[in-house]
Amino acid sequence: MRILVVSTAVGPIGQGRGGGVEVTVYSLVRGLTDRGHQLTVLAPQDSEPCGCPMRTVAGQLQPPWQQQRRDAPVVQPPDGVLAAMWREAWTLQARHHVVLNLGYDWLPLWLGPCFTTPVLHLISMGSLSQAMDQAVADVANTHPGRLAFHGRSQMESFGIHHGAVVGNGFDLDTYRFVQEPEPLLGWVGRIAPEKGLEDAAAAATLLSMPLAVWGRVEDPAYKARVTADHPDCDFRWKGFLPPLQLRRELGRCAVLLMTPRWQEAFGNAVVEAMACGVPVVAYRRGGPRETVDHGLTGFLVEPGQVTELAAMVEKAYRLDRHNVRRRCRERFGVAPFAQRLEAWILAALHRDPARGAEP
Ligand code: UDP
Repeated sequence: MRILVVSTAVGPIGQGRGGGVEVTVYSLVRGLTDRGHQLTVLAPQDSEPCGCPMRTVAGQLQPPWQQQRRDAPVVQPPDGVLAAMWREAWTLQARHHVVLNLGYDWLPLWLGPCFTTPVLHLISMGSLSQAMDQAVADVANTHPGRLAFHGRSQMESFGIHHGAVVGNGFDLDTYRFVQEPEPLLGWVGRIAPEKGLEDAAAAATLLSMPLAVWGRVEDPAYKARVTADHPDCDFRWKGFLPPLQLRRELGRCAVLLMTPRWQEAFGNAVVEAMACGVPVVAYRRGGPRETVDHGLTGFLVEPGQVTELAAMVEKAYRLDRHNVRRRCRERFGVAPFAQRLEAWILAALHRDPARGAEP
């Protein structure tokens, strides 16, 4: 198939604004190309190459939904890159069998049915906003096969129980395995309230262990608040590291903490740590609940239970790091992810009334 992939409009690929979607783009391109498909990626200007032909579009970045209230209206900035990308997708659609939307945005969900080439949506976050819930529900009602989700609980947050769940995939050879870690806790994510850095800081303080923090500062006031509220935490601020560099660093950690306050859709960082042999202690919520094998690759803790979090770190520290890596390989490679994506796309095209003639 010739597949047009439309990336997120919240930031250029490679700068971290797009969070997990940026990693998904690379894995998806690699996996589907390996399966013989021809991909083109459409992304905001200044995006880094992602392994297939790319078209970039200028314009003002889209504000992310996770920074807005549930009842926030749909926003369309003047000269917005989202609208510009979808105008370009419109002109390119006839050369493709399918358009694959990776952006968590109202516009493509609303616009998709107006295209002549089917537009499929890989939804990257859980339910966050009334406007997005409505847009997802509309597609679920009219074209249910066109939606896919990373995880089951993410999908169910929209009230959908029988949709496509495709997980995520990682190029596992690019992650450096480390057998003997440093006495260091790790935390990876955008530094923003929904990611819950404060609970990891509290656990690190209880354990008197340093906490390495990798990620883009999305909310500087939040970072200042967490720092001030945890004066005894030995933060090691690492900033945003390019993905390939992070994959060489992460293995140094004894344990990774994932402490989201929101419905984490998948939580790439969990799997990426495991790929380096690092056990994970995470809140039993959203993606991590499905990706952590409790007792084998890490431990799950009730959200908000910081003392329990610290206790589980000590147990996780004793897990066999080879087993962690092995289990990760079994579950999260690029090839099975691409197979699931392909099955979803083919099933969607097969049952889709918009399936037209050869482009
Ligand atoms: N990441 C990175 N460098 C950093 C911090 C994070 O490349 O310094 C990547 C990380 O590897 C992960 C992504 O950013 O793949 C964040 O995705 P995740 O699903 O964990 O959270 P999201 O930001 O999508 O909520």
